[in-house]
Amino acid sequence: MCELIDDLKDIKLVIFDLDGVIYRGSALIHGVENIIKHLKNLAIRVVFNSNNSTLTRQMYVDKLKKLNIECSSDDIYTSASITAEEITKLKSKANIYVIGEKGLKEELRAKGHQICDHVRNFRNIDYVIVGLDRDFNYKKLAIAQNCISQGHAQFYAANADATLPDEGRQLPGAGCMVAALNVCTSQKPIHIFGKPSPMGIERILEKNNTYNNEAAIFGDRLDTDILAGNRAKIKTVLVLTGVTTREQITTLKENLENIDNNIFPTMIINSLDEIFIKKM
Ligand SMILES: [Mg+2]
Repeated sequence: MCELIDDLKDIKLVIFDLDGVIYRGSALIHGVENIIKHLKNLAIRVVFNSNNSTLTRQMYVDKLKKLNIECSSDDIYTSASITAEEITKLKSKANIYVIGEKGLKEELRAKGHQICDHVRNFRNIDYVIVGLDRDFNYKKLAIAQNCISQGHAQFYAANADATLPDEGRQLPGAGCMVAALNVCTSQKPIHIFGKPSPMGIERILEKNNTYNNEAAIFGDRLDTDILAGNRAKIKTVLVLTGVTTREQITTLKENLENIDNNIFPTMIINSLDEIFIKKM
């Protein structure tokens, strides 16, 4: 039986980011499925938290299953599912115009909201919600702009990532769509629900009856995973299997001006197997 290293010995809940921690693109990172099994054997609750709003939680369950990782949709939290929960607290059965893909639309629909793809009257729209939309175009932007500027819709975003990791390269992220709407409405989103907002992690702790000092987030990005974890006051572990390198952290530490100290993790590890005393 493997034991967790001393720095993590009180951990009862592990929150894994997905891309760059569990898989890269469509390939599982070596040995990850065994690490998850060992954590479960130690009675540690394992959940996944992705900022990518394009897939539904069930689509993530299916994707992980293909990679030999068994989980249920209750183990998956995405910026889309967190957005849907939070919007529902503001209003039930809202009329929403979405710039985004299936994941965001389905999560909102599942909470009883009406997704208005064809807007006849801008004034009927309660919220414009923006996530990554790989079919983003001028027409969608114009509708969203009019719902906000001509109507009374409130502007929210699932996430505002600048880039999207895709099979070893970086593509434009949801932040580009958020910025476009910001420019033409002169409004910023009232809230961006994904990381680095601590809101998703706070909900995860609440749902799993876990205290801050019993939880850790494992992520590969400083400005989303680690910042969100530090803001939520849980342990933050940067894993160097994704986009961040040790050199980048050294450079950041040498230029601390204008840098939020919360982007620095509690721990840095090269790969997930370093969390166990006995290496597998
Ligand atoms: Mg990542």
